[in-house]
Amino acid sequence: ISRFWAPINTIASFYNSVVTAVSYLERIFETIDEPVEVKDAKDAIEMPAIQGKLEFEHVTFSYEKGVEILKDVNFSVEPGKTIAFVGPTGAGKSTIVNLISRFYNVDSGRILIDGVDISKVTLRSLRKQMGVMMQDSFIFGGTIMDNIRYGNKTATDEEVIRAAKTVCAHDFIMQMEDGYQTQVNERGSRLSVGQRQLISFARALLADPAILILDEATSSIDTETEIVLQEGLNHLLKGRTSFIIAHRLSTIQNADCIMYISDGGIAEAGTHEELLQKHGKYYELYEAQYKSV
Ligand code: ADP
Repeated sequence: ISRFWAPINTIASFYNSVVTAVSYLERIFETIDEPVEVKDAKDAIEMPAIQGKLEFEHVTFSYEKGVEILKDVNFSVEPGKTIAFVGPTGAGKSTIVNLISRFYNVDSGRILIDGVDISKVTLRSLRKQMGVMMQDSFIFGGTIMDNIRYGNKTATDEEVIRAAKTVCAHDFIMQMEDGYQTQVNERGSRLSVGQRQLISFARALLADPAILILDEATSSIDTETEIVLQEGLNHLLKGRTSFIIAHRLSTIQNADCIMYISDGGIAEAGTHEELLQKHGKYYELYEAQYKSV
């Protein structure tokens, strides 16, 4: 699981600059095992089994001295809820999720999981209970079975298939010539964007993290695929605290809370309905996206 770990921006910007080099990505996943900036405190404790409550308490953060990216951010999430972050590029959405997975330490304030300050626990014990899904689903050369089992290497074939069924990936897999034994390559070129995502959903379900972070792909997909993905995603989100950086607003209409991030803070927060009624920034964003379809 540690191979999944890298701050979202690192992978995203790397990916943007080397669009075709998914094989490089695999290497990157192997090499960025270790935290970029963060080390365990000397007296770090083991993170107990996570129930999923998460709190930001007056969190302030800057990458470079003097340039505050997050300013006194406060929020609280109950276990099992789905939180979506939306807002303009550069607003701080990735930064928030990178802090949750503790790629950086906060400058001031605290991030608590089940009341435990995450700066006081070992990274290993924290991250083994979290899963991060990147913008572009990572597929490696091998069978579809192998690619899903990557989420939990000890899973049996039956468990892999059950996970695939749960996230609505089973049907398309069975339509491929060799089913679960179909070979896919590193670029996943035999798979559509939607199919790659379904595989990564199944993989994440097998990994079964208490906290899931999803950086949604921006690529446009057809409506039919979108419906399947949405259903698969709903099953994946069930029973775990989840954070989604959303680009397609359709994905998050059922989120328990949508936070509109702008200028390093939470400008608006509420459900889809509440934010629409508010006629604020989310409403504008929604209108813009809706009209452009
Ligand atoms: P979003 O995810 O909403 O697009 P980000 O969290 O990626 O926004 O970025 C918030 C701000 O932090 C931006 O101004 C961005 O340029 C800056 N930033 C992001 N990552 C780094 C980094 N590693 N070093 C310095 N500045 C960064």
